[in-house]
Amino acid sequence: MRVAIVNRGEVAVRIIRACQELGYASILIHSTPDKHTTAYRIADETYELEGQAAADTYLRIDSVVNACKNVRADLVHPGFGFLSENAAFAQALEEAGLTFIGPSAHSIALAGNKIKAKELAHKAGVPTVPSITNLDSDPQKQLEQARSIGFPCIIKAAAGGGGKGMKVVRKDSEFFEQLESASREAKAAFGSSTVFIEKFLETPRHIEVQIFGDKKGNLLHFFERECTIQRRHQKIFEETPSPSVNDSLRKSICEAALSLATAAHYYNAGTVEFLLDGDRFYFMELNTRLQVEHTVTELVCGVDLVKLQIEVAQGHELPFGQADIIQRGHALEVRVYAEDSARGFLPSIGKLTEVKLPLGPQRRFDFGFESGDEITPFYDPMIGKVITWATSRRDNLARMYATLCDTVVFGIHTNIEFLKDVLINEKFERNQVSTRFLDQEYQNGFTPLPPTPEQETEIKKALSSSQGPEAQFETKSSAHEALVRSPWSEVWRA
Ligand code: ADP
Repeated sequence: MRVAIVNRGEVAVRIIRACQELGYASILIHSTPDKHTTAYRIADETYELEGQAAADTYLRIDSVVNACKNVRADLVHPGFGFLSENAAFAQALEEAGLTFIGPSAHSIALAGNKIKAKELAHKAGVPTVPSITNLDSDPQKQLEQARSIGFPCIIKAAAGGGGKGMKVVRKDSEFFEQLESASREAKAAFGSSTVFIEKFLETPRHIEVQIFGDKKGNLLHFFERECTIQRRHQKIFEETPSPSVNDSLRKSICEAALSLATAAHYYNAGTVEFLLDGDRFYFMELNTRLQVEHTVTELVCGVDLVKLQIEVAQGHELPFGQADIIQRGHALEVRVYAEDSARGFLPSIGKLTEVKLPLGPQRRFDFGFESGDEITPFYDPMIGKVITWATSRRDNLARMYATLCDTVVFGIHTNIEFLKDVLINEKFERNQVSTRFLDQEYQNGFTPLPPTPEQETEIKKALSSSQGPEAQFETKSSAHEALVRSPWSEVWRA
């Protein structure tokens, strides 16, 4: 079997590894700058889509389908992001006689429209956040509709995703301005200006359920993940089992996820996302792809979700039943981003002069870059993920902290120090958090402590033996000043 992978970074590496274990050929379809990444080096074959921006490469359905045909692929894995939730892409592949590794184009289209997905949840008897999905065309009536839900409310794009274009409205007087701005953003980002209004929950948690189906109609769940720790609606910490869910809630939320999946005639990997408010949960959306955080489920349930995706796509039956799936221990994932936490988390680009991911007990590093690779401004700033497992959550937080202390990413700014700071936050340790936790705790950003004298000596040693941008440092009056300002300083303290 030949598997084309239309993606980059750590997820492309993850899929190639699954192909290797299955004995299938992996063919990486990649953009020009992505020649300097791990996936390019380890794929069996590569095929270049000339260009840099995602819109000119990974998002071009016509050129991607052509590439898949040219490399004589049998199966196509879209990873996540890019074309992974694009029904037209799944359809185009099927029409070209290739197998899309994911659900049917019909399920993707259904889930991709948040209004249709909500209607599906209603039909399946799954609770949803109170909402208005049929906004009137008369502005006065729109305001009355919003009032009937009550403020605060949130305006969302029907075709939305990636946390983009959501607007919270706290009072009457802000309503029209936010409605207008949400529709405008929705049109620009998703090509459709349709929006809807939902009750805004002030301090919810984000709980999601991993579901999986085969083409014979069997459906299972792999329990929940908690992804409450988010910054600007983007997940950063993900764990399973959720420390906020007891056995009876777990049972009902997993059953609700399966009811929804059944109503959507779902197959392959999917995630049903919920908001948890107290002990009540509400369906939010169905993600029709592999999630970034699938890793924690893999560790706790002892399953390879990517291999399973590839097998199920070929029509094979799920090789086990629900009773065979159990949760063992605790897994935690953190996302390592190329960003400068001291400067409002701005993306940081440049050469990774050194990447060291030391082995240790129950550590997994899913990374897409090695020493010498470049972080470019063209794509998502995620460099990789660190995942740890331990028998208890308490032990696992300590294991993750120790692992991050060993994790070396030099040459650009990363959020590693920030991740460590969150790990030792007492509220996080005690699970006294909501989706707004990071935005509240770090209202003024995060500035890492300056290096200790011992660390400084180490940094100086490293700099003097490095191939890095020394010229930049020669002009600085004191080594300390140079180090504190250098792009190395923060990463060294990791
Ligand atoms: P997207 O598809 O863009 O990722 P989601 O609908 O999945 O958007 O929401 C992303 C995040 O936004 C959620 O995890 C949650 O933190 C927040 N959010 C969404 N809807 C609500 C709501 N009704 N009340 C409070 N927070 C919400």
